[in-house]
Amino acid sequence: MKGLCILGATGSIGVSTLDVVARHPDCYRVVALTANSNVDRALEQTRQFRPDVVVMTDETGAEALESGLKRIGHQGTRVLAGSDALITATTLPEVDTVMAAIVGAAGLLPTLAAARAGKTLLLANKEALVMSGPLFMSAVTQSGARLLPIDSEHNAVFQCMPPHYQAGHRAAQIRRILLTASGGPFLHKPLDELARVTPEQAIAHPNWVMGRKISVDSATMMNKGLEVIEACLLFSMPPEQVQVVVHRQSVIHSLVDYVDGTVLAQMGNPDMRIPIAHALAWPDRFDSGAEPLDLFQVKRLDFDPPDFDRFRCLHLAYEAARVGGTVPAILNAANEVAVAAFLERQLPFTAIPELIEHCLNTVSCQSAETLDTVLEADRQARATAHQRLLHYRQH
Ligand code: NAD
Ligand code: MG
Repeated sequence: MKGLCILGATGSIGVSTLDVVARHPDCYRVVALTANSNVDRALEQTRQFRPDVVVMTDETGAEALESGLKRIGHQGTRVLAGSDALITATTLPEVDTVMAAIVGAAGLLPTLAAARAGKTLLLANKEALVMSGPLFMSAVTQSGARLLPIDSEHNAVFQCMPPHYQAGHRAAQIRRILLTASGGPFLHKPLDELARVTPEQAIAHPNWVMGRKISVDSATMMNKGLEVIEACLLFSMPPEQVQVVVHRQSVIHSLVDYVDGTVLAQMGNPDMRIPIAHALAWPDRFDSGAEPLDLFQVKRLDFDPPDFDRFRCLHLAYEAARVGGTVPAILNAANEVAVAAFLERQLPFTAIPELIEHCLNTVSCQSAETLDTVLEADRQARATAHQRLLHYRQH
């Protein structure tokens, strides 16, 4: 029986993780859950899974959860408040495995703490890895933490790797990694209509149901851009050997091209419980609850190259991957500000890459050797992005 901590338990990945865990009560015990402000869902999850600790980063949320638990007569769970408590939760001695599923830079410190503590780390929070890059990977190596990718593409690549492969290592027999992309809701939308698309349209993903931020990232293809950087780090590959393939059906989740001409692909329905169950059961397998793949219903698989002009964010992310240092952290922070502003209807969809490019041109790049340098790049990029937002509000 392994002890599990879920960072971001109330989100899309968190909920899917608990769905899988509930099917295997003799494999996992939920030790800690964390949430930002969704008290109702945190209360329901605490009642069902009876963790030792629940963290609400929002202080008023923590008070509300505490009184909610008292009201229903629930005992045995400690409620902690604030973002420092996220680190307390991931590093509890009872925790063997951490699902890192907070969205954005907010997940960096607790996810890194889990890596440093040598936990088995199930990584969904790609922004944490993109920001801190080599620093993060060396924390994993030094502590001996086991890193298992949850992002469906990276989980697919991991499954197509040679036996006994460990994340962070370079597999010499590999020619290329092929990351598949659905292309999101605007793959074929006339370009002159893109400036007027609404958050509701951007969030309506054709194949996956996900949190709001990653849904917008899928519409701009920044999600794929972040995933290119993520793949370079997880599989120790240069960006030239990570290729994006638009594959509308989202049935092949990614592929590995070997030197002998063999190409291995991982397939399945677009259901995040599949990569989650893979990582939770690894190196074994167990039921995820996902429907079996019906190839007769899928019928055909299409593949196209990405359009870097339409999806400028993908181009910017490749650039960031090539330059390295603090550039991925700047890219990520500027994107987080831009997406939040778009969701608040303060920035047109087409201005998302403009805002990011402005930050990349303005904030100076450093080598990302310490956490302080990374956090400072993140802070500067956010300040620059907020400053630039004023320009859009005035127009
Ligand atoms: P979501 O918005 O549904 O959930 C985010 C979770 O993070 C929530 O539990 C929320 O309470 C918590 N959170 C948000 N801000 C916080 C803060 N400031 N401090 C502490 N906690 C905070 O997001 P999601 O779709 O579940 O995505 C989570 C991560 O997984 C993202 O990094 C995303 O890129 C990655 N991911 C998601 C999917 C998917 O299908 N949803 C697929 C691949 C990768
Ligand atoms: Mg993905």
